[in-house]
This record gives sequence, C-alpha cells and structure tokens, in this order.
Amino acid sequence: MIVVLKKTADEAAIRRVVQHVERLGLKAHVIVGTQRTVVAAIGEKRGDERETLSSLPEVEQVVPILAPYKIASRETRPEPTVVRVRELVVGGGHVGVIAGPCSVESEEQIVEVARAVKAAGARGLRGGAFKPRTSPYSFQGLKEEGLRLLALAREETGLAVVTEVMTPHQVELVARYADVLQIGARNMQNYNLLQAVGESGMAVLLKRGPAATMDEFLLAAEYILDQGNTNVILCERGIRTFETHTRFTLPLATVPYLRERTHLPIIVDPSHGTGIASLVPPMCRAAIAVGSDGLIVEVHPDPSRALSDAAQTIDPETFAETMEACRRIAETLGLTMDEALPVSS
Ligand code: PEP
Ligand code: MN
Repeated sequence: MIVVLKKTADEAAIRRVVQHVERLGLKAHVIVGTQRTVVAAIGEKRGDERETLSSLPEVEQVVPILAPYKIASRETRPEPTVVRVRELVVGGGHVGVIAGPCSVESEEQIVEVARAVKAAGARGLRGGAFKPRTSPYSFQGLKEEGLRLLALAREETGLAVVTEVMTPHQVELVARYADVLQIGARNMQNYNLLQAVGESGMAVLLKRGPAATMDEFLLAAEYILDQGNTNVILCERGIRTFETHTRFTLPLATVPYLRERTHLPIIVDPSHGTGIASLVPPMCRAAIAVGSDGLIVEVHPDPSRALSDAAQTIDPETFAETMEACRRIAETLGLTMDEALPVSS
C-alpha cells in the first residue's frame, strides 16, 4: 500500500506513520517526493491495515500498489530516480555514459582507455575483473589485481568505476574498489546476490537476464530496493531469440516500456545486445533516440587484441564519434549529456 501523507506532514509525523506501519507487521519505505512524502507499506496484508492507516491524522489517503513490484513502481514514486556517483549522473533527463573494455587486462590498457572514454564524454569506466565466461577455459579476469587497476584508472581520470560482482561473498571486496556494482545478466535472479548488493548501499547496475520478462526484471530490482538501497540502474543488454545474425536481440522498446512502469533509470548495452562492433554505433544512437538514460559500451585501445568480447568492441575513435552523434540526438530530445573534453597534450 502507498500511504500518502498530508502536505503538512513534518519529520515527526513521518516517524509516527512509519512506526504505525511497522506495528502492523509491515515494512516501511519512506519516499520523499518533490510534491509530498509517501510511505510504501510492504508486506503480507492480514486484515484491515488500509482502514487503520487511513484513519491516522497525518495521512491523506492509502492506495493499494497494483504492480507486483512495489518500490520499483511508478505508482510509489512518480518522479524519476537519478543515480549519481562521482560525476556519473544517470536519469532524470541526463544521459550518463559508461565505457571501457570488457575485461581489465593491464595497467596500460585500462588507463589508456579510461583517458580516451573520458575525453569523449563518458563519466563511468567499465571493466570486468571477475568475468562470468561461458567456458571455464576462457580468460576469467584479473580478479583483485583487476580491481586495483580500475581504482588506479579512477585516480588518473576521476571516472566512476563500474565492475561486476558475481557472488555474495565477493561484494565486500569489490565494493572496496568500485563505485557501482554490476550484476551480470547471468545473475539477474541470484536473489542472495541481489540482497547482498542491496545491503551494501552501493549503486547497482542490474542487467536484464537474456530470458527474463519485464516483471521478472523489475522484481529482481525490487530485491535490491527492498534492502533500502534505491541506487539502482536497469540495463537492457539483449535477449535470446531464434535470431542468430546477432549475438542477442536488442529490444529497444524495453526503454519506453519500463519508463511507464518504473522510476528507475534505464540504460542500454548495445555491445552485448548485438555482439557486432559495426552495429554498436547505430544502436547507441537508437538507444538515445528511444529515451535511454545512458549507455554502457565496450571500448578497447585495440579491439582486435581484446581478451574477451573482441568482436563487439569498438575503438576510442569510433566511440568518440558515436558520442558526438548521441549528444546531438539527446539535445534534440531536450536531454543533457556530458561534454567531450579538450584533448590534453
Ligand atoms: C559484461 O558486461 O561484460 C557482461 C558479461 O555482460 P552481461 O552480463 O550482460 O553478459
Ligand atoms: Mn563483455
């Protein structure tokens, strides 16, 4: 249920309502909006909780949340959630871009690409240190050494580090180095992991599972939100279909569809979504055109030598041109995007 408080409700009134919700055996999530504060009362309904809460003097009205996902729903919070980490801003009319290699490979590689993507306008640096690979014989990532190199690249550039965490027990380690914890597509329904990143309080990039429905995707986000962590970015990264011409099929309608249902920011990953480098720039542009709050793009100083996902990785020059084109599209739509920076000598 959404407990809508009266406009006059102050801190003490909010506290009283929260206590009341908790006394009813429900979990209370306070959502402070620009217009008014609401308390989402989540949990199993047993009796006449709605009537009880409606009768409180601080309460304007109590309405049921119809969507299966409660805190993620726009019904609970009509205003967009904006996730801000360092200079990376995603949502609320600002397009935030995360770019970098599929995997961290060496200091030279990650620092060079970090500088290049920052100059082109990215404000987040991606790079896998723990890699979920289809084959156990493929490169599995540099692990903690990779995290250390990401932190070094952040020191050099100020970019927010976005990197994947694969198990609940890795969360503490990865959180020590990262700014945003990435939940990979294969782990979208790893509920223990979702709860662990929720508890960490860190910003989370949640990728859609290749076979997940929209409700499953939002319910996965709900696991994180339910831990009191609202810094969640959703990412469409392509789904498995009968098509074989691309690695996955990238359904861009996900963006406007989710926009109608959730306040969480939604970004697109055209690298994994297509698996083909030449398709990445046009799909980046298309993602911005459908209103994506950002992009996550695989960029490598020399894509042909990338240790993972070489075929879908673009070079820094192509990335810079793509960003320029995206910026023009964003501007047309009244969205803002971070500027390219003058190249320092
Ligand atoms: C990645 O971002 O490198 C990755 C493995 O992505 P996904 O989980 O979407 O496959
Ligand atoms: Mn990859």
